[in-house]
Amino acid sequence: MNDNLNENLEHYNNEPSLHINDQNLINSLLPHYENTDIGIWCFEIDTENYSVMSRGIEYISGYPKEALENEIEWTSLVHPEDLPKFLENNKYLESGKISRQQYRIIDKHGRVKWLQDFTIPTIDTNGRLIKIDGITSDITEQKLMEEKLKFLSEYDPYTKLPNRRKFFNALETRFHKYEDKNRKFAVMTIDMDRFKFINDTLGHEIADELFKEVASRLNNLLSPYDLLARYGEDEFAILIDTIESIESITTIAERMINAFKEPFYIENYQLYATANIGVSTFPENGNNSIELIRNANLALYKSQKAGKNKYHIISHLSSIQSFKSFSLGRDLKKALENNEMVLHFQPRVDAFTNEIISAEALIRWNHPEWGIISPIEFLTIAEENGFIEDVDNWVLNEVCHQMKLLKERQILTVPISINISAVHFSVYNWQEKVASIIEDYGIDSKDLEFEITESLLLNNDDSVQHTLNALKSLGIKIVLDDFGTGYSSLSYLTHFPFDIIKIDKSFTQNMVINEKDLFIVKSIIFMAKGLNIKVVAEGVETLEQLKLLKEEQCDEIQGYLFSKPVPIEEFISLLKKKSLKPLDPSVKGAENKRKYNRIELPYPLEAEMRLVSFAGQSLQLGKSHALIQNVSIGGLRCITNLNLPVRGDIHLQFDTEILDQAIRLIGKVIWKEEMKEDLFVYGIEFVQNDEKQPSFKILLDQLNDELKKENGVFLKKMIKGDITVYFNKQKKFF
Ligand code: C2E
Ligand code: CA
Ligand code: CA
Repeated sequence: MNDNLNENLEHYNNEPSLHINDQNLINSLLPHYENTDIGIWCFEIDTENYSVMSRGIEYISGYPKEALENEIEWTSLVHPEDLPKFLENNKYLESGKISRQQYRIIDKHGRVKWLQDFTIPTIDTNGRLIKIDGITSDITEQKLMEEKLKFLSEYDPYTKLPNRRKFFNALETRFHKYEDKNRKFAVMTIDMDRFKFINDTLGHEIADELFKEVASRLNNLLSPYDLLARYGEDEFAILIDTIESIESITTIAERMINAFKEPFYIENYQLYATANIGVSTFPENGNNSIELIRNANLALYKSQKAGKNKYHIISHLSSIQSFKSFSLGRDLKKALENNEMVLHFQPRVDAFTNEIISAEALIRWNHPEWGIISPIEFLTIAEENGFIEDVDNWVLNEVCHQMKLLKERQILTVPISINISAVHFSVYNWQEKVASIIEDYGIDSKDLEFEITESLLLNNDDSVQHTLNALKSLGIKIVLDDFGTGYSSLSYLTHFPFDIIKIDKSFTQNMVINEKDLFIVKSIIFMAKGLNIKVVAEGVETLEQLKLLKEEQCDEIQGYLFSKPVPIEEFISLLKKKSLKPLDPSVKGAENKRKYNRIELPYPLEAEMRLVSFAGQSLQLGKSHALIQNVSIGGLRCITNLNLPVRGDIHLQFDTEILDQAIRLIGKVIWKEEMKEDLFVYGIEFVQNDEKQPSFKILLDQLNDELKKENGVFLKKMIKGDITVYFNKQKKFF
């Protein structure tokens, strides 16, 4: 309130003084003001008397004019909270300055009123204050309206909880609230399941009551400094003012999830709700409000993927990954418009003749900043953002378009298979849309195959079956993809009209080492033969796998052994060959591309890796892990499971210790190789200034000497064992 007072106090230093000292004028004005909320008065300093006081003052204060003139001091009416400021402001009058201020009084009936004073001092030739003229108006109504507006702009009118705006402002303020800027805090976003359902079926009064009940349960778990807000129709956001550790936030999140387990009693209803919680923390997950909220939402999304009543705290190690996911999410819509998507084609060959039978169209995103992005990375984002239909439609159109071009160029082609997401099966009359696209391009529908996964078959059999039959009657072949991974039920094979099943690559790859997997592969092939369904083995990488599959009479093979997915022009040259030879599966290692002598480390050195700038933009993100394999004065080679593009304007910072000395190295990615799925090797060239180099050079020389001595002092910080095992173990943190 005092702030208000301050804001509203103005001093008119330069204004020509308006002196209401013509008594006749005042007296003639008075009658006009007698019945209003405005009081006009004139106070004589010497006699301590009001020479003028209009009736308005009576209305405002509730006291009769006479009482105010003789017994009651005006200051005694001023609200105690506003009094010090009021007195201080009045002091200005002594120096002859006009003042305007707003303050509260308590009137005769005990009511609080907001007043505005406009006061004009009169100074004599000696500079002495002799008289004060004033206009006092009752602005209570206006103030109430202002407060109401402020409330409406900051609170949800139904539940009276702080709203999104208030939350955002509180979060902004939190960054500067404490002197200790490193005090950790957290942002939580909570999504309530079933809220929309309850809203639709029982009405919004019940739903709002439920929301309030939930809010009060959550509030009980919070400290008075935390802020719980209604962030969306069925969403809460919480600012946890201070957190001690990740464990403390885990405890809060667990208690919150538990708070949803008991039913809510609203009127005559016993209601159940579930929730998902996403948490991001400062400073690890962002240094501004937008980033923290985004990361909390990303965590929320991850928790939703894990099921109902789950929470997810954005890992401190995954900031680079989440930064990437967010930029991908942000850019996805544009990507389709800007033609940044490309199709690669991977041939499927006859297991015995090696002839190309078909090919799978696999999408890639050629992102202007991140380079080629795998569908695994962006399809979940597309699903989340509701773009998956657009993506798949683009693929269907593009496949048809490419087939048309091949036809025009008179290149003999093979049927192309397309991956279809489950969402299409809930699009009304989707098969008709497909039919019209095919017709527009003048493509033979027999040249198309649609791949679906088992998860689709779990629900609503009837409509799915109907759509599949309709597609099949168009002439499109239906492929059951990733067979064996999901909810495999053999009955699917007889209920649905599959032409082809694809054995998932996890079986193909494990069957050589695991007898059970081999048995599954054998059974699938055996069964499919009996049902007259063709079998394709996916992910075939070695001659040994090929041999086993041939022994079992597997029909077709798809995998790196014959070809990786390739761009259209390369695919055309494969088509021209008609049949493919299995490739030599020996893998090339990453070469040494640096000009300096490198030190090969006997065990990889663990480092904290941070993305410090990206495309000219400086970033402050949390750390990820990397393992340094070798290092020289000019650069290093490391392994991480982050997929980063090769570009000069990505600067990575590595913090590690060599011989008990903490070092920080900054460099750019100059080459990259995929080691395994989700594991990448990078060549880094240092970019930091050369001044630091002499000491780093000395350190490297020392390291070299130690290594020669093989006394292993420096191994303190190093990780023993197999890198892959290390990463597999760590995977859950990324
Ligand atoms: P999928 O349908 O199982 O596709 C096969 C995946 O296995 C492809 O990964 C392919 O590159 C990879 N692969 C093929 N041969 C080998 C091999 O010998 N070894 C190994 N390790 N991998 C091999 P990709 O292209 O990354 O696609 C991943 C998944 O993304 C696909 O799995 C599919 O589910 C989805 N996807 C790809 N393109 C599209 C699309 O256009 N639309 C939709 N909805 N999904 C797509
Ligand atoms: Ca597929
Ligand atoms: Ca597959």
